[in-house]
Amino acid sequence: MSPDKVDQLDQRDQLDRRDQLDQRDQLDQRSTAGLDPRSVAAIALEEEHAAHNYHPLAVVVESGEGAWVTDVTGRKYLDCLAAYSALNFGHGHPALIEAAKAQLGRITLTSRAFHNDQLGPFVSALAALAGKDMVLPMNTGAEAVESAIKVARAWGYRVKGVAADKATIIVADGNFHGRTTTIISFSSDPDARADFGPFTPGFVSVPYGDAAALEAAIDENTVAVLIEPIQGEAGIIVPPADYLPAVRDITTRHNVLFIADEIQSGLGRTGATFECDNVGVVPDLYLLGKALGGGIVPVSAVVGNADILGVLKPGQHGSTFGGNPLAAAVGLAVVGLLSTGEYQERARALGERLQANLRRLIGFGVVAVRGAGLWVGIDIDPSLASGRVVCEMLMERGVLAKDTHGSTIRLAPPIVVSPEDLDWAVEQLEAVLTELRG
Ligand SMILES: *Cc1c(COP(=O)(O)O)cnc(C)c1O
Repeated sequence: MSPDKVDQLDQRDQLDRRDQLDQRDQLDQRSTAGLDPRSVAAIALEEEHAAHNYHPLAVVVESGEGAWVTDVTGRKYLDCLAAYSALNFGHGHPALIEAAKAQLGRITLTSRAFHNDQLGPFVSALAALAGKDMVLPMNTGAEAVESAIKVARAWGYRVKGVAADKATIIVADGNFHGRTTTIISFSSDPDARADFGPFTPGFVSVPYGDAAALEAAIDENTVAVLIEPIQGEAGIIVPPADYLPAVRDITTRHNVLFIADEIQSGLGRTGATFECDNVGVVPDLYLLGKALGGGIVPVSAVVGNADILGVLKPGQHGSTFGGNPLAAAVGLAVVGLLSTGEYQERARALGERLQANLRRLIGFGVVAVRGAGLWVGIDIDPSLASGRVVCEMLMERGVLAKDTHGSTIRLAPPIVVSPEDLDWAVEQLEAVLTELRG
């Protein structure tokens, strides 16, 4: 296709998308119609002054405890999203709140221009949990990904001997690694990219789950493979069981770093400390975030051995807030919760229960159920309703969940959820589907 033709198609796509967004805004005005005045006022204020880069459900949350949140009218909802797994340990976990409160009373920020007494204990505990030497502490998940890209490139030039500015990193189609300009440069989601170019070069995308395609894409300039062990935003896509072991084998043979983005899959969600554990694979670098901050503060990290993370020298990377004492104190408490294995085991057992319950709905409005541990993607029959409509109807029944990619609903409740509450959530989904099937 000629570049002009591609441009025209791109423009048409973008216009179509803008139409859809306009329609969505109109729909929203209708969906707030039956709401109480306090919720309406809160939503209106946010809509007027917060950029419209999200499309939230019409619920205004005021407080939360464990797996439940309460809105401004006092109504309770079961939180089946858990802030995209940032709340693996639930809202207000006592051990995490206690760690944060104690640290709030001491000191919250020093910058890394000075040492603080919390960072050492945190990074040594996290390194031990991951079976690695070193931790690079950052704040958001996207920063962990960006940091790993810099580390991998520097490793490529200084250790592997790749020619200057030639390093490439292999990623997978359908990936989600965050929202910065470099990260969206290798996204395959048009919404994530449109109008945000020019993009950062140096990335090659191959089909997810296809080890042969990945190996074929490697050349002398390849420094790393960056993948999610399970693709979360893509709809909880679980690759074939032999995929990650094959990626490990291929990257080792070609002297290429294997970077596992466990920002959403890690820290208990899939019934293990890392999803890589479930398939018996150890990557070179783990990327962690979300639950590492206990749902209290943003804490992220790149975790790896000194032969890789050691490429960073003073002045070559940094973050004003990375490794701050409040984040470190909370992160240490999170590692403490994970060190007993209790949460991993609970996620595994509850996940089996949830998936078994959901499989009973296949053929009754559910097309497919997949996942790992307490992390499930449910494909709804698209002829019944969109995922968004199902989530709105679930909200009416007191269950908060999030759709992705049209007709998929993801469930990722806090691991502290009770088995009874989990069963109840599936009953609510069954009731919604019954209503839709008429
Ligand atoms: C959420 C997420 C990120 C980005 O994390 P932020 O804290 O939102 O920047 C990166 N990778 C994966 C797999 C994620 O799920």
